[in-house]
Amino acid sequence: MDLELPEELRLLQSSVRKFVDETLAPHEKEVEEKDEIPRSLIAAMGESGLFGIGHDEKWGGQGFGKLGYCVAVEQAGRANASFWNVVGATSGLCGTAIELGGPDAVRERYLPDLFSGKKVGAYALSEPGAGSDAGSLKTQAKRDGDAYVIDGAKTFITNAPIAEVFVIFANTDPSKGNKGITAFVVERGTKGLEIGKNDEKMGL
Ligand SMILES: Cc1cc2nc3c(=O)[nH]c(=O)nc-3n(C[C@H](O)[C@H](O)[C@H](O)COP(=O)(O)OP(=O)(O)OC[C@H]3O[C@@H](n4cnc5c(N)ncnc54)[C@H](O)[C@@H]3O)c2cc1C
Repeated sequence: MDLELPEELRLLQSSVRKFVDETLAPHEKEVEEKDEIPRSLIAAMGESGLFGIGHDEKWGGQGFGKLGYCVAVEQAGRANASFWNVVGATSGLCGTAIELGGPDAVRERYLPDLFSGKKVGAYALSEPGAGSDAGSLKTQAKRDGDAYVIDGAKTFITNAPIAEVFVIFANTDPSKGNKGITAFVVERGTKGLEIGKNDEKMGL
């Protein structure tokens, strides 16, 4: 079995390592103290291609696949974990949900911006009473004409304070149990979307 990384992933590995060491690591102290990542750094992460590494070129990704994503995560681990958390929640969670389950019109509308880091994404599944047992979530979505009204509360949502695009899980038919759960893409600024206070965390 050949355990060596292919040449293109070794190049990816060294370029991510250089970016993390030279561009992200010098800001670790500031990020830890202020509990926020400067938007200019998120833009630099986007320009470096970090947000699209594991995703399909068809939707604006870099096309390095799951192995490429893992190579990048490993190198990102050289600096404060909060840097990759922004990428992971934007692309790995929010983007993947849209890539896997969204109709093409939704993919076209959101994925290029998420996979280039132009927009930050969040993935809102967990609730105060539904963590590991996500299928028991209580948020409901009720049809109202040609729209849905989503009613519920989420917790621990990475990127929520800065995200522009949210994938929110809600149940459209509680009589079907977890089979009634579906995902909605909700943009920041949508009427009724309230973001709670930021939880203080150590090292994130
Ligand atoms: C830093 C951070 C970021 C997060 N980001 C997101 C996010 O972006 N989006 C999102 O939706 N969620 C997010 N979460 C929430 C995360 O997915 C939940 O914390 C996780 O699902 C666990 O849920 P819980 O905290 O309610 O713990 P619980 O589900 O209450 O579990 C508590 C403990 O009980 C154990 N346990 C639970 N069920 C069983 C069982 N059946 N048998 C044996 N042991 C069991 C668990 O292993 C755990 O040790 C984040 C959490 C953290 C800490």
